[in-house]
Amino acid sequence: MNIGIDMDGVVANAIAKAVKNVNSKYRLNISTEEIDENGTEAKVYERLPVNFRTLLNGKSDIRPAIYTKSFFKYLSAYDGAHEGVKKIYELGHKIFFVTKIIDWENSPGEKYYWLRKNFKSIEWNLICVERMEDKALVDVDIIIDDDPRVMETFPRTKILMKRNWNKKYRERRCDDVCIEVSSMLEAAEQIRLLEG
Ligand SMILES: [Mg+2]
Repeated sequence: MNIGIDMDGVVANAIAKAVKNVNSKYRLNISTEEIDENGTEAKVYERLPVNFRTLLNGKSDIRPAIYTKSFFKYLSAYDGAHEGVKKIYELGHKIFFVTKIIDWENSPGEKYYWLRKNFKSIEWNLICVERMEDKALVDVDIIIDDDPRVMETFPRTKILMKRNWNKKYRERRCDDVCIEVSSMLEAAEQIRLLEG
């Protein structure tokens, strides 16, 4: 099968660095646990002292503060990410990393660098999309993602990586639209079971 795997929030720990960047830039003390809903930017903006909001001229776009140069190049990998992806590959599946790009000028190259560094021993492809919903157009059999928008739009099998920021989505959701996992190793095991 063709397996689509998201990068940020699934294999690459972007949130830890994003929060660290804004904490140091705006002298805040936000913890990653506070990001319990999608949209790091909005959450962080909410926490900015009024004088910083004034500096930003009422604009809530603090992405330049978050996504500093080389941001995606040096992210840490989540525990079990390497082993889990390798396991899926060894089951005989094709790996497609499917990622949304915010800054097209720099981040595709940075993400490609990160993947080359982290997944040296397996073959993979990289697919970059403009919007989260565009992942629904990618013709993979299974998608592994942490974003509720992907869970809501992707038409085939969906595996949701449980993270703090999709907690509210998981609580709200009453239908059984996706398989929930806590690590890439668990995702690999679910894929093995799906094969029957
Ligand atoms: Mg993600």
